[in-house]
Amino acid sequence: MRKTRKENVTRKTRNIIKSERQLLRVTHKLTDIRTNYIQQVTTEIIKREPSFIVMEDLNVSGMMKNKHLARAVQEQKLAEFYRIMSYKCSWHAIKLITADRFYASSKTCSFCGNIKKDLKLSDRTYHCEHCGAVIDRDMNASINLYQYGKSVINH
Ligand SMILES: [Zn+2]
Repeated sequence: MRKTRKENVTRKTRNIIKSERQLLRVTHKLTDIRTNYIQQVTTEIIKREPSFIVMEDLNVSGMMKNKHLARAVQEQKLAEFYRIMSYKCSWHAIKLITADRFYASSKTCSFCGNIKKDLKLSDRTYHCEHCGAVIDRDMNASINLYQYGKSVINH
């Protein structure tokens, strides 16, 4: 009886090891896919020959303390994106501007400059209660970052 139980335990452990190896293989594959994706996206951006690129300072080290693995991986990829973008910009002599972490790129209305304090991450469209502007959230943030970059360059 004891032997059988022990055998079962051994067999189960082997299966776990096998599963862990499979999981590791899948994880490596996903990492490769993500890294390739970052390479492709950054190359696409560089190909458009912008005069400057603005990226937000995402306080990656602070976010890395987050206990959720999925988020940590995502943030690690943001850091990777930034690193790759940086060296590609220097290769092509493109100015890379980092927007201050406290710059409210999403909350600021790109039409009138009003700051919407209660903007949630789920709000995909920016509705300005001051000037009535309605604009896609990411487009609004992009315009603000563009303006930010221009003001940095003109100083
Ligand atoms: Zn507005």
